Amino acid sequence: MSLLLTGISELTTNDPARGDGHADPGDALLGVIRDAALVVSTDGVVEWVGPVAEAPDADTRRDLGGRAVIPGFVDSHTHLVFAGDRSAEFAARMTGTPYDGGGIAVSVAATRAASDDELRALVAARVAEMRAQGTTTVEIKSGYGLTLDDELRSLRIAREVTSHTTFLGAHVVPREYAPDRAAYVDLVTGPMLDAVTADGPTTLAESIDVFCEPHSAHAFDGDEARTILEAGRAAGLSLRVHGNQLGPGPGVRLACELGARSVDHCTFLDEADVEALAAARGTTVATLLPGVEFSTRSPYPDARALIDAGVDVALASDCNPGTCYSSSIPFAIALAVREMGMTPAEALHAATAVSARSLGLDRRIAPGQPAELAVIDAPSHLHLAYRAGVPIVRALDL
Ligand SMILES: [Zn+2]
Repeated sequence: MSLLLTGISELTTNDPARGDGHADPGDALLGVIRDAALVVSTDGVVEWVGPVAEAPDADTRRDLGGRAVIPGFVDSHTHLVFAGDRSAEFAARMTGTPYDGGGIAVSVAATRAASDDELRALVAARVAEMRAQGTTTVEIKSGYGLTLDDELRSLRIAREVTSHTTFLGAHVVPREYAPDRAAYVDLVTGPMLDAVTADGPTTLAESIDVFCEPHSAHAFDGDEARTILEAGRAAGLSLRVHGNQLGPGPGVRLACELGARSVDHCTFLDEADVEALAAARGTTVATLLPGVEFSTRSPYPDARALIDAGVDVALASDCNPGTCYSSSIPFAIALAVREMGMTPAEALHAATAVSARSLGLDRRIAPGQPAELAVIDAPSHLHLAYRAGVPIVRALDL
Protein backbone atom coordinates (compact mmCIF):
# COMPACT_ATOMS: atom_id res chain seq x y z
CA MET A 1 0.00 0.00 0.00
CA SER A 2 1.18 3.53 -0.75
CA LEU A 3 0.14 7.00 0.39
CA LEU A 4 0.39 10.18 -1.71
CA LEU A 5 0.97 13.32 0.38
CA THR A 6 -0.02 16.55 -1.37
CA GLY A 7 -0.65 20.12 -0.24
CA ILE A 8 3.05 20.54 0.67
CA SER A 9 3.89 24.21 0.19
CA GLU A 10 7.59 23.57 0.69
CA LEU A 11 9.49 20.34 1.07
CA THR A 12 12.99 20.31 2.59
CA THR A 13 14.72 17.25 1.13
CA ASN A 14 18.27 17.91 2.45
CA ASP A 15 19.33 16.83 -1.04
CA PRO A 16 20.77 19.82 -2.93
CA ALA A 17 20.53 17.91 -6.24
CA ARG A 18 16.77 17.57 -5.78
CA GLY A 19 15.83 21.21 -5.11
CA ASP A 20 13.76 23.12 -7.64
CA GLY A 21 15.54 26.49 -7.64
CA HIS A 22 18.96 27.27 -6.29
CA ALA A 23 19.01 31.08 -6.40
CA ASP A 24 18.56 31.30 -2.62
CA PRO A 25 21.55 29.73 -0.82
CA GLY A 26 19.33 28.44 1.99
CA ASP A 27 17.00 26.70 -0.45
CA ALA A 28 20.01 25.23 -2.25
CA LEU A 29 21.46 23.85 1.00
CA LEU A 30 18.12 22.32 1.97
CA GLY A 31 17.20 21.04 -1.51
CA VAL A 32 13.81 22.77 -1.26
CA ILE A 33 10.96 21.81 -3.60
CA ARG A 34 7.91 24.11 -3.62
CA ASP A 35 4.40 22.73 -4.25
CA ALA A 36 5.75 19.27 -3.64
CA ALA A 37 4.34 15.79 -3.22
CA LEU A 38 5.60 12.62 -1.62
CA VAL A 39 4.68 8.98 -2.00
CA VAL A 40 5.41 6.81 1.02
CA SER A 41 4.73 3.15 1.59
CA THR A 42 2.59 2.22 4.55
CA ASP A 43 5.61 0.50 6.08
CA GLY A 44 7.33 3.87 6.21
CA VAL A 45 9.67 4.15 3.23
CA VAL A 46 9.80 7.09 0.81
CA GLU A 47 8.95 5.90 -2.71
CA TRP A 48 8.74 9.11 -4.72
CA VAL A 49 9.63 12.82 -4.19
CA GLY A 50 8.97 15.74 -6.55
CA PRO A 51 6.68 18.53 -7.73
CA VAL A 52 2.98 17.79 -7.21
CA ALA A 53 2.34 18.36 -10.93
CA GLU A 54 4.41 15.24 -11.69
CA ALA A 55 3.19 13.05 -8.83
CA PRO A 56 2.26 9.43 -9.64
CA ASP A 57 -0.90 7.76 -8.37
CA ALA A 58 -1.01 5.95 -5.05
CA ASP A 59 -3.49 3.77 -3.17
CA THR A 60 -4.54 6.60 -0.82
CA ARG A 61 -4.01 10.36 -0.63
CA ARG A 62 -3.71 12.95 2.11
CA ASP A 63 -3.73 16.73 1.59
CA LEU A 64 -1.56 18.58 4.10
CA GLY A 65 -3.27 21.90 3.38
CA GLY A 66 -0.35 24.06 2.30
CA ARG A 67 2.06 23.16 5.11
CA ALA A 68 5.82 22.79 4.99
CA VAL A 69 7.34 19.31 5.39
CA ILE A 70 10.87 18.78 6.69
CA PRO A 71 12.95 15.76 7.67
CA GLY A 72 12.17 14.86 11.28
CA PHE A 73 14.66 16.41 13.69
CA VAL A 74 17.54 14.17 14.77
CA ASP A 75 18.33 15.01 18.39
CA SER A 76 21.83 13.56 18.62
CA HIS A 77 22.57 14.50 22.24
CA THR A 78 20.19 13.78 25.14
CA HIS A 79 20.27 12.42 28.67
CA LEU A 80 16.68 11.22 29.01
CA VAL A 81 17.16 8.45 31.59
CA PHE A 82 16.92 10.27 34.90
CA ALA A 83 14.62 10.82 37.86
CA GLY A 84 14.35 13.69 40.32
CA ASP A 85 13.76 17.43 40.08
CA ARG A 86 16.45 20.13 39.85
CA SER A 87 14.31 23.14 39.07
CA ALA A 88 15.53 24.93 42.23
CA GLU A 89 19.09 24.64 40.94
CA PHE A 90 18.00 26.33 37.71
CA ALA A 91 16.32 29.12 39.64
CA ALA A 92 19.46 29.65 41.74
CA ARG A 93 21.57 29.80 38.58
CA MET A 94 19.36 32.49 37.12
CA THR A 95 20.18 34.67 40.12
CA GLY A 96 23.92 34.12 39.92
CA THR A 97 24.98 30.69 41.21
CA PRO A 98 27.48 29.33 38.63
CA TYR A 99 27.22 25.82 37.14
CA ASP A 100 30.08 23.44 37.92
CA GLY A 101 28.69 19.95 37.29
CA GLY A 102 28.20 19.18 40.99
CA GLY A 103 24.40 18.94 40.73
CA ILE A 104 24.69 15.78 38.62
CA ALA A 105 25.06 13.89 41.93
CA VAL A 106 21.47 14.88 42.80
CA SER A 107 20.17 13.22 39.64
CA VAL A 108 22.39 10.18 40.24
CA ALA A 109 20.85 9.63 43.68
CA ALA A 110 17.28 10.02 42.39
CA THR A 111 17.91 7.78 39.37
CA ARG A 112 19.46 5.01 41.46
CA ALA A 113 16.43 5.14 43.77
CA ALA A 114 13.87 4.90 40.94
CA SER A 115 12.38 1.59 39.80
CA ASP A 116 12.78 0.31 36.24
CA ASP A 117 9.14 1.09 35.51
CA GLU A 118 9.42 4.61 36.88
CA LEU A 119 12.44 5.31 34.67
CA ARG A 120 10.73 3.70 31.68
CA ALA A 121 7.67 5.92 32.12
CA LEU A 122 9.83 9.04 32.44
CA VAL A 123 11.76 8.21 29.27
CA ALA A 124 8.57 7.41 27.33
CA ALA A 125 7.01 10.73 28.34
CA ARG A 126 10.12 12.63 27.25
CA VAL A 127 10.29 10.86 23.90
CA ALA A 128 6.59 11.61 23.30
CA GLU A 129 7.21 15.26 24.20
CA MET A 130 10.00 15.36 21.62
CA ARG A 131 7.91 13.75 18.91
CA ALA A 132 5.21 16.34 19.53
CA GLN A 133 7.86 18.95 18.66
CA GLY A 134 9.11 17.31 15.45
CA THR A 135 11.89 15.03 16.67
CA THR A 136 11.74 11.58 15.09
CA THR A 137 15.20 10.23 16.00
CA VAL A 138 16.88 10.51 19.37
CA GLU A 139 20.23 9.57 20.85
CA ILE A 140 20.13 8.76 24.58
CA LYS A 141 23.08 8.56 26.95
CA SER A 142 23.39 6.76 30.26
CA GLY A 143 25.32 8.60 32.95
CA TYR A 144 23.03 9.05 35.95
CA GLY A 145 23.66 5.52 37.23
CA LEU A 146 27.45 5.47 37.64
CA THR A 147 27.47 1.95 39.06
CA LEU A 148 27.82 -1.07 36.81
CA ASP A 149 24.23 -2.20 37.41
CA ASP A 150 22.71 1.26 37.16
CA GLU A 151 24.56 2.12 33.94
CA LEU A 152 23.47 -1.17 32.34
CA ARG A 153 19.90 -0.57 33.47
CA SER A 154 19.91 2.95 31.98
CA LEU A 155 21.22 1.66 28.65
CA ARG A 156 18.66 -1.16 28.54
CA ILE A 157 15.79 1.26 29.17
CA ALA A 158 17.16 3.71 26.58
CA ARG A 159 17.56 0.85 24.08
CA GLU A 160 13.85 0.11 24.33
CA VAL A 161 13.14 3.41 22.57
CA THR A 162 16.18 3.98 20.32
CA SER A 163 19.11 2.13 18.78
CA HIS A 164 21.25 5.28 19.25
CA THR A 165 22.40 4.70 22.81
CA THR A 166 25.62 6.00 24.32
CA PHE A 167 27.51 4.68 27.35
CA LEU A 168 28.36 7.69 29.52
CA GLY A 169 29.69 6.02 32.65
CA ALA A 170 32.29 8.81 32.48
CA HIS A 171 29.72 11.56 33.04
CA VAL A 172 31.24 12.57 36.38
CA VAL A 173 33.29 10.85 39.06
CA PRO A 174 30.63 9.73 41.56
CA ARG A 175 30.98 10.99 45.12
CA GLU A 176 32.05 7.61 46.49
CA TYR A 177 35.07 7.63 44.15
CA ALA A 178 36.13 11.26 44.72
CA PRO A 179 39.15 10.24 46.82
CA ASP A 180 40.33 7.78 44.14
CA ARG A 181 39.50 9.00 40.65
CA ALA A 182 41.82 6.48 38.99
CA ALA A 183 39.80 3.63 40.49
CA TYR A 184 36.65 5.02 38.85
CA VAL A 185 38.35 5.34 35.45
CA ASP A 186 39.43 1.70 35.90
CA LEU A 187 35.84 0.71 36.67
CA VAL A 188 34.51 2.50 33.56
CA THR A 189 37.15 1.12 31.19
CA GLY A 190 37.16 -2.34 32.77
CA PRO A 191 34.07 -4.01 34.30
CA MET A 192 31.52 -1.46 33.08
CA LEU A 193 32.74 -1.44 29.49
CA ASP A 194 33.04 -5.24 29.52
CA ALA A 195 29.44 -5.55 30.68
CA VAL A 196 28.15 -2.99 28.16
CA THR A 197 29.78 -4.89 25.28
CA ALA A 198 29.33 -8.42 26.66
CA ASP A 199 26.59 -9.40 24.19
CA GLY A 200 28.40 -7.89 21.20
CA PRO A 201 30.09 -4.52 20.82
CA THR A 202 27.00 -2.49 19.95
CA THR A 203 24.13 -4.57 21.33
CA LEU A 204 23.56 -2.20 24.25
CA ALA A 205 25.46 0.95 23.28
CA GLU A 206 26.42 2.37 19.91
CA SER A 207 28.92 4.88 21.31
CA ILE A 208 30.94 5.84 24.35
CA ASP A 209 31.10 9.41 25.63
CA VAL A 210 33.07 11.31 28.27
CA PHE A 211 32.60 14.68 29.99
CA CYS A 212 36.10 16.06 29.34
CA GLU A 213 36.23 19.27 31.33
CA PRO A 214 39.24 20.32 33.40
CA HIS A 215 37.19 23.28 34.69
CA SER A 216 34.87 20.97 36.65
CA ALA A 217 36.25 19.08 39.65
CA HIS A 218 33.65 16.39 38.94
CA ALA A 219 34.45 15.74 35.25
CA PHE A 220 37.48 14.20 33.52
CA ASP A 221 40.75 15.76 32.39
CA GLY A 222 42.34 15.17 28.99
CA ASP A 223 44.42 12.17 30.03
CA GLU A 224 41.49 10.45 31.75
CA ALA A 225 39.25 11.18 28.76
CA ARG A 226 41.82 9.72 26.35
CA THR A 227 42.06 6.54 28.40
CA ILE A 228 38.27 6.16 28.42
CA LEU A 229 37.80 6.89 24.71
CA GLU A 230 40.63 4.59 23.62
CA ALA A 231 39.15 1.77 25.71
CA GLY A 232 35.74 2.35 24.16
CA ARG A 233 37.15 2.39 20.67
CA ALA A 234 39.07 -0.83 21.31
CA ALA A 235 35.79 -2.41 22.47
CA GLY A 236 34.14 -1.50 19.16
CA LEU A 237 32.16 1.60 20.14
CA SER A 238 32.13 4.85 18.21
CA LEU A 239 33.22 7.96 20.10
CA ARG A 240 31.43 11.09 21.29
CA VAL A 241 32.88 13.75 23.59
CA HIS A 242 31.50 16.51 25.83
CA GLY A 243 34.22 19.13 25.28
CA ASN A 244 35.06 22.79 25.91
CA GLN A 245 31.76 23.55 27.66
CA LEU A 246 32.91 25.50 30.72
CA GLY A 247 36.20 26.84 29.43
CA PRO A 248 39.07 26.15 27.05
CA GLY A 249 40.36 22.58 27.24
CA PRO A 250 41.66 19.51 25.46
CA GLY A 251 38.28 17.91 24.58
CA VAL A 252 37.83 19.20 21.04
CA ARG A 253 41.33 18.40 19.84
CA LEU A 254 41.22 14.97 21.50
CA ALA A 255 37.91 14.18 19.78
CA CYS A 256 39.32 15.21 16.39
CA GLU A 257 42.54 13.27 16.92
CA LEU A 258 40.68 10.09 17.87
CA GLY A 259 38.16 10.38 15.03
CA ALA A 260 35.11 10.86 17.26
CA ARG A 261 31.79 11.13 15.44
CA SER A 262 30.94 14.22 17.43
CA VAL A 263 32.32 16.67 19.95
CA ASP A 264 29.56 18.46 21.76
CA HIS A 265 29.20 21.93 23.34
CA CYS A 266 32.28 23.59 21.70
CA THR A 267 31.53 26.78 23.61
CA PHE A 268 35.09 27.89 24.37
CA LEU A 269 37.32 27.33 21.32
CA ASP A 270 40.69 28.75 20.34
CA GLU A 271 42.09 28.95 16.83
CA ALA A 272 43.75 25.53 17.04
CA ASP A 273 40.42 23.95 18.05
CA VAL A 274 38.64 25.48 15.06
CA GLU A 275 41.46 24.37 12.74
CA ALA A 276 41.28 20.82 14.14
CA LEU A 277 37.51 20.71 13.60
CA ALA A 278 37.81 22.04 10.05
CA ALA A 279 40.48 19.43 9.27
CA ALA A 280 38.20 16.73 10.73
CA ARG A 281 35.31 17.68 8.42
CA GLY A 282 33.54 14.57 7.21
CA THR A 283 34.56 12.64 10.33
CA THR A 284 33.95 14.74 13.43
CA VAL A 285 30.90 16.97 13.79
CA ALA A 286 30.79 19.95 16.19
CA THR A 287 27.43 19.60 17.94
CA LEU A 288 26.25 22.86 19.46
CA LEU A 289 23.74 22.80 22.30
CA PRO A 290 22.47 26.37 22.74
CA GLY A 291 19.76 25.35 25.20
CA VAL A 292 22.62 24.79 27.65
CA GLU A 293 23.99 28.31 27.27
CA PHE A 294 20.44 29.61 27.72
CA SER A 295 19.86 27.53 30.86
CA THR A 296 23.24 28.25 32.42
CA ARG A 297 23.37 31.93 31.42
CA SER A 298 26.62 31.34 29.52
CA PRO A 299 28.02 32.84 26.31
CA TYR A 300 26.91 31.06 23.15
CA PRO A 301 29.38 29.24 20.88
CA ASP A 302 30.34 31.07 17.69
CA ALA A 303 28.52 28.97 15.12
CA ARG A 304 29.14 31.54 12.38
CA ALA A 305 32.91 31.30 12.80
CA LEU A 306 32.76 27.49 12.77
CA ILE A 307 30.64 27.29 9.62
CA ASP A 308 32.76 29.90 7.86
CA ALA A 309 35.87 27.86 8.75
CA GLY A 310 34.32 24.81 7.07
CA VAL A 311 33.34 22.87 10.22
CA ASP A 312 30.39 20.45 10.15
CA VAL A 313 27.99 22.01 12.69
CA ALA A 314 25.07 20.10 14.22
CA LEU A 315 22.42 21.25 16.68
CA ALA A 316 20.91 19.12 19.45
CA SER A 317 18.98 19.70 22.68
CA ASP A 318 21.20 18.14 25.39
CA CYS A 319 17.91 17.53 27.20
CA ASN A 320 19.02 16.81 30.78
CA PRO A 321 17.89 17.76 34.28
CA GLY A 322 20.79 20.04 35.13
CA THR A 323 21.94 22.33 32.35
CA CYS A 324 18.99 22.22 29.92
CA TYR A 325 15.66 20.61 30.70
CA SER A 326 14.31 21.48 27.26
CA SER A 327 13.63 18.75 24.72
CA SER A 328 12.79 21.31 22.05
CA ILE A 329 14.79 21.38 18.82
CA PRO A 330 12.71 24.32 17.54
CA PHE A 331 13.93 26.22 20.61
CA ALA A 332 17.56 25.27 19.78
CA ILE A 333 16.99 26.44 16.20
CA ALA A 334 15.57 29.76 17.36
CA LEU A 335 18.56 30.31 19.67
CA ALA A 336 20.99 29.33 16.91
CA VAL A 337 19.47 31.88 14.56
CA ARG A 338 19.03 34.65 17.13
CA GLU A 339 22.21 34.21 19.18
CA MET A 340 24.74 32.21 17.16
CA GLY A 341 24.66 33.76 13.70
CA MET A 342 23.23 30.77 11.86
CA THR A 343 20.78 31.28 9.01
CA PRO A 344 17.40 29.51 9.40
CA ALA A 345 18.45 27.09 6.65
CA GLU A 346 21.80 26.32 8.32
CA ALA A 347 20.05 25.72 11.64
CA LEU A 348 17.49 23.33 10.13
CA HIS A 349 20.24 21.51 8.20
CA ALA A 350 22.29 21.27 11.43
CA ALA A 351 19.37 19.73 13.36
CA THR A 352 18.59 17.16 10.67
CA ALA A 353 21.29 16.30 8.10
CA VAL A 354 24.37 17.02 10.19
CA SER A 355 23.11 15.68 13.51
CA ALA A 356 22.05 12.56 11.60
CA ARG A 357 25.52 12.17 10.15
CA SER A 358 26.96 12.21 13.67
CA LEU A 359 24.85 9.10 14.34
CA GLY A 360 25.88 7.42 11.09
CA LEU A 361 22.50 8.22 9.48
CA ASP A 362 21.44 9.80 6.20
CA ARG A 363 18.56 12.23 6.80
CA ARG A 364 17.54 13.13 3.25
CA ILE A 365 14.03 12.79 1.93
CA ALA A 366 14.67 10.60 -1.08
CA PRO A 367 13.35 7.31 -2.51
CA GLY A 368 14.42 4.38 -0.35
CA GLN A 369 14.93 6.49 2.76
CA PRO A 370 12.80 6.00 5.89
CA ALA A 371 9.82 8.37 5.91
CA GLU A 372 10.91 10.19 9.09
CA LEU A 373 9.05 13.43 8.51
CA ALA A 374 7.82 16.46 10.39
CA VAL A 375 5.14 18.93 9.36
CA ILE A 376 4.99 22.65 10.13
CA ASP A 377 1.72 24.58 10.49
CA ALA A 378 3.19 27.27 8.25
CA PRO A 379 4.18 27.62 4.60
CA SER A 380 7.96 27.48 5.13
CA HIS A 381 10.73 26.34 7.45
CA LEU A 382 11.56 30.01 8.18
CA HIS A 383 8.68 29.96 10.64
CA LEU A 384 10.59 27.61 12.98
CA ALA A 385 12.75 30.50 14.24
CA TYR A 386 10.38 33.32 13.23
CA ARG A 387 7.57 31.92 15.44
CA ALA A 388 9.83 30.96 18.36
CA GLY A 389 8.01 29.32 21.25
CA VAL A 390 4.86 28.54 19.24
CA PRO A 391 4.11 24.79 18.87
CA ILE A 392 3.83 24.69 15.06
CA VAL A 393 5.94 21.60 14.26
CA ARG A 394 5.32 17.93 15.04
CA ALA A 395 6.38 14.52 13.77
CA LEU A 396 4.15 13.40 10.90
CA ASP A 397 2.28 10.21 11.74
CA LEU A 398 1.65 8.23 8.57
ZN1 LIG B 1 25.30 16.31 27.56
